[in-house]
Amino acid sequence: MLGLMQDRPLLISQLIEHAALNHADTEIVSRSVEGPIHRYTYKDCAARCRKLANALTKLGTQQGDVIGTLAWNGYRHLELYFGVAAMGAVCHTVNPRLFPEQIIYIINHAEDKFFFTDLTFVPLLEAVADKLSTVKQFIIMTDRAHMPETKLANVLCYEELLDAENDSYQWPLFDENTASSLCYTSGTTGNPKGVLFSHRSTMLHSYCVCMPDALGLSAMDTMLPVVPMFHANAWGIPYAAAMCGTKLVMPGARMDGEAIYELMETEKVNLSAGVPTVWMMLLSYVKENKKKFTYMRYTIIGGSAAARSMIETFKYDYNVEVLHAWGMTETSPLGTSCRPKKKHENLSDEEKVTLSLKQGRAVFGVEMKIVDGNGKDLPWDGKQFGNLLVRGPWIASGYFKGAGGQAVDEDNWFDTGDVSTIDPDGYMQITDRSKDVIKSGGEWISSIDVENEAIGCPGVAEAAVIAVPHPKWDERPLVLAVKEAGSNVTKEQVIEHLSKTLAKWQLPDDVVFVDELPHTATGKLLKNKLRDAYKDYKLPT
Ligand code: ADP
Repeated sequence: MLGLMQDRPLLISQLIEHAALNHADTEIVSRSVEGPIHRYTYKDCAARCRKLANALTKLGTQQGDVIGTLAWNGYRHLELYFGVAAMGAVCHTVNPRLFPEQIIYIINHAEDKFFFTDLTFVPLLEAVADKLSTVKQFIIMTDRAHMPETKLANVLCYEELLDAENDSYQWPLFDENTASSLCYTSGTTGNPKGVLFSHRSTMLHSYCVCMPDALGLSAMDTMLPVVPMFHANAWGIPYAAAMCGTKLVMPGARMDGEAIYELMETEKVNLSAGVPTVWMMLLSYVKENKKKFTYMRYTIIGGSAAARSMIETFKYDYNVEVLHAWGMTETSPLGTSCRPKKKHENLSDEEKVTLSLKQGRAVFGVEMKIVDGNGKDLPWDGKQFGNLLVRGPWIASGYFKGAGGQAVDEDNWFDTGDVSTIDPDGYMQITDRSKDVIKSGGEWISSIDVENEAIGCPGVAEAAVIAVPHPKWDERPLVLAVKEAGSNVTKEQVIEHLSKTLAKWQLPDDVVFVDELPHTATGKLLKNKLRDAYKDYKLPT
């Protein structure tokens, strides 16, 4: 027997129209690329989304067309997020930090029909434009006064386009499984792979993001997403914010510590989200300038593991709690979040920090398991680690146009490429990427464990741990470390520090100090590059 409930499709148009009606005067504040702070409301935003849909219709946009963007976190990008998807087209966010060849590949592979760009990225597009085979028109996201001289052909001005339209538009109803946005993973090897989200997956993910034990957004919050809208949909925060009426503060092109801190204070931001690299910059700014946070309550860290020292600095020096979360582009991205349970209430502060080092419990909607090298399930004992598999309604079932191979097995399990433990309470902890674990004489050493401890050594600013070939043990760990400015920290001091927490066989064979470490487009350590550079490195033993 079927239930007698209405079969209304879950569509992104409902998000922005809901916010326009129920949070009409809630603000969206952006640091504009042109310079000044721009502020308007969800009601204004929705009106401009409708104007955009009218403009795109006139330009000839059909349902299913892919519309590209190269843009920072700002109000115009937000209008594209909502407007493009709501009319039934696909909003394709391109990551400007990728190499030009990857950007060309991605735009052609996605077959972007119209392309919207912030002023910042006009030179980047000019350099690749003659290799883009599908783009009919470029739209520069600024007003007439700021339109640049450009070599790009077929250029339009965003504000002129919107000015010519009225703000009534009837959003179409269609199947909730229709594609809504497209995002390519940076892919450290091979071509980037396209992850194609649907209205349904985005809406279900948004409900989840708002849950108190997930990211916990509400109409009481002011959220500053530092995580870029060109990376994994800014962790779904723009959609979730519209769902619950959260005030949004968008940092635009300025991600430096000073600019982020200033916005946090002037806009009374209590909640933020970003990768550890961003927080390193912010913390070093506030430390050097002896600042305090007046309103910040908690910050969400994901994308890479949050180190104990960072969690402790936020907590003890600045009274800001860290919420550790895990996910990937293929998981929309929220998979787990590390909220305590009632039974953890009386833990000591130190024990609470230890718990928050874990990546967290699966949010409802994401099933999770760990398996050994033969695909056999491993127990949730918090000790044994294996390949982490997930499935659920906001997990990718395949890659765009099949490029990138099979994404899931016959039971729909998606192999994340992460290696982790899961404890009896369901808390997952990443021990490594499967390709980064150090295989030393039959034992596995987690490169991340050693890195996190090394970063805690006074005088060390950043560290990467890689496997170096070893005649007897197959592989042994090597630490590559960047010193803090003015520090004289030595190899012996780093090893001495590590030996407080690591077993003897897990200690690195050597520590090499370098001026800087290579990062991926998304701020993660580029370990394959380091492995290449040090593949012939002679360990002292
Ligand atoms: P990319 O484009 O770099 O692949 P993703 O955001 O999709 O970007 O990367 C996902 C990967 O990032 C995960 O598979 C995991 O290895 C890593 N990751 C994400 N969150 C965390 C975290 N909290 N701790 C450790 N690693 C994380």
